Amino acid sequence: MTQYRLMMLGPPGAGKGTQAKRIAERLDIPHVSTGDMLREARRKGTELGKKAAEFMNAGDLVPDDVVIGIVRERLEEEDAAGGFILDGFPRTRPQAEALAEMGVELDAVINIDVSDDEVINRLGGRLSCPSCGAVYHEEAKPPSKDNICDECGHEGLITRDDDRPEAIKQRLKGYHKQTAPLIEFYEKEGVLKNVSGVGDPNSVTEAIVSELEDL
Ligand SMILES: [Zn+2]
Repeated sequence: MTQYRLMMLGPPGAGKGTQAKRIAERLDIPHVSTGDMLREARRKGTELGKKAAEFMNAGDLVPDDVVIGIVRERLEEEDAAGGFILDGFPRTRPQAEALAEMGVELDAVINIDVSDDEVINRLGGRLSCPSCGAVYHEEAKPPSKDNICDECGHEGLITRDDDRPEAIKQRLKGYHKQTAPLIEFYEKEGVLKNVSGVGDPNSVTEAIVSELEDL
């Protein structure tokens, strides 16, 4: 059986979440999103969830050991035995090393390549629904009715604090400092697949799928 142990890499706004979800469906493997898992663990009130909540509620990054613990538990679940696609983890070199120490070998790391200017452009126009979390874009993906969420009908879309210009610059800085070094790390491991993140999401999905064909 072909195993697909995959990971998504790329700057904020590259479309990692969207693409990871699509690839997961296509290959019938779980989409392991640390963001989703942290929110879920917090909701369920697990031991790690409670720990994570302390940091999330304070607006701080959840420390490596907590994130690693959550990922380890998730990858031990039965549905991940045939493969998975990691989204949002590893985000730092120590996390990548911890993943390797867990004995997890990745078959492919998909690096979605998007320039800083493009990231600023995309995130800068982002509108979010405060009720259901649906995400829109002023130019690229406006809601069908002005200021009303297509998904849940909520009136009043907002710009999340994360998507304000200063915050975007901070996030990019963090990405270049902490996460971009993983490109070289996985290139050396021989598993890096570069895919351009520019263009419509369907063509990006197809480019990823074709990169995975030779696995
Ligand atoms: Zn909504």
